[in-house]
Amino acid sequence: MAKAFFIDTTLCTACRGCQVACKQWHDLPAEITTNRGTFQNPADLTFSTYKLVRMTEEVIDKKLTWLFFPDQCRHCIEAPCLETAENSDAIYRDEDTGAILYTIKTKELDAESIISSCPYNIPRKAEDGTISKCDMCNDRVHNGLKPACVATCPTGTMNFGEREEMLALGEKRLAEVKEKFPNASLLDTDEVNVIYLVTHDSRLYHEYAMAPQSRKSGISRKVALRKMMKPF
Ligand code: SF4
Ligand code: SF4
Ligand code: SF4
Repeated sequence: MAKAFFIDTTLCTACRGCQVACKQWHDLPAEITTNRGTFQNPADLTFSTYKLVRMTEEVIDKKLTWLFFPDQCRHCIEAPCLETAENSDAIYRDEDTGAILYTIKTKELDAESIISSCPYNIPRKAEDGTISKCDMCNDRVHNGLKPACVATCPTGTMNFGEREEMLALGEKRLAEVKEKFPNASLLDTDEVNVIYLVTHDSRLYHEYAMAPQSRKSGISRKVALRKMMKPF
């Protein structure tokens, strides 16, 4: 059965332990950053940054409110990036865990099509055209360990396990926070294996926290055309 994450943003303190643990496990370099007047650092996901704690400040009900969103690949149930790769072995799904995995062969793909197919704006390209993103720490999971970001999270924000368990945990937490936050919701639960609980409009956290309608089909124009041309 597919594995899933449940990310409870109500518990996140933006300590960025998950961001650092991801880099440590994958031996990824730090980014050169500049002071942009925000604690969010780096500014965006990159080829070497698979996990980013997004931070926004909003005035909600006349109160300054921090919104934290630990962003990463959603390991989509029907992954548009995988479909766009046309089942080349450059991108594949691990049937045991449900992880969508990118290989060095992504260099041979049309990077812009893959990137624009993602409803959550996740993959990033290196100068040589190779594309990368979160790999669910699939090596750890196959060895009975939790993903590095989950193992390091001190607050219970990051959770990982069987999809049904994560959905149940998400529903339980949603019911608990609804009284205080009536607009709380779980995002795109039927479409992804990374389930977020947010307390406010998802667009306040990040433009792509939820798949925008314009990217909802998640399929590049090329793939959409090919699908239309297929014989019934
Ligand atoms: Fe939030 Fe946990 Fe990441 Fe810290 S480690 S930023 S609490 S998700
Ligand atoms: Fe692919 Fe984007 Fe879905 Fe990740 S979130 S599996 S990169 S389509
Ligand atoms: Fe990084 Fe692994 Fe967490 Fe993905 S699952 S964000 S690769 S630490």
